[in-house]
Amino acid sequence: MTFKQISSQHAHFDRFVVEWTNQHTRQGRSIHCRKGCSGCCHLAVHATFPETISIAANLSVSCKSKLKNYINRLTGILPELRELKDYLKRHRQELGPCPFLGETGECSIYSTRPLSCRALLSTRPAEWCTVDFSELTEWDKQAYKTGMDRQIVAWPTHFVAATQDLGQKLEQDLLDSMRHDLGWSLSGNFAVMVWLEHSLQLSTMATQTEQVHEQLTSSGLGHRFLLDFSSEPTTAPAPIQP
Ligand code: SF4
Repeated sequence: MTFKQISSQHAHFDRFVVEWTNQHTRQGRSIHCRKGCSGCCHLAVHATFPETISIAANLSVSCKSKLKNYINRLTGILPELRELKDYLKRHRQELGPCPFLGETGECSIYSTRPLSCRALLSTRPAEWCTVDFSELTEWDKQAYKTGMDRQIVAWPTHFVAATQDLGQKLEQDLLDSMRHDLGWSLSGNFAVMVWLEHSLQLSTMATQTEQVHEQLTSSGLGHRFLLDFSSEPTTAPAPIQP
């Protein structure tokens, strides 16, 4: 899979998002995402490995340093994590924003950001994007649910379902294509995969599935909450969208 294929897939997805958003706003409804609004950049960001390769190859000095700090903080909490919900909560509260978030709330890799970032469109104001629902009162939870259009959102979240569905389908196409070409696929925590590609050059190991697996294990970052490695055989993948 080439960088060109991934960027054309991203472009295809962006066109879908623009068309969907235009149609939505023509109906008098709002999407609250704005430039400089970085609520979702404080969540654990998911990506496929192919999306991270060119980002890892073009890391700025500042991003490299922020990435290293993020990995250090993450490895500090890993041994204490027992459940996925603990990981998501502690990630939100203790790890800080995505290492690629700029000082003024802009994405420093906007044109190459992964599908999962492109797919998250908020139907509610930004403060709802980082809220911890376990800390809300019943009254607040009810207020959150009231007025939510279940035809549009990926219930029980307030994010648009159509963009998330297409984003997940395209991610799956990328992973199927990878497994078909190389014999393995990898997805998971975006920053962790950028770090692994930057420090280990996993992409140069190509079809050496065992070696890739060993490297992931010995990196200390092969935790089940962080990475999903698969070497299951796959049938011929669907062509990547032009
Ligand atoms: S890659 Fe960019 S848009 Fe995605 S979480 Fe990081 S800073 Fe935000």
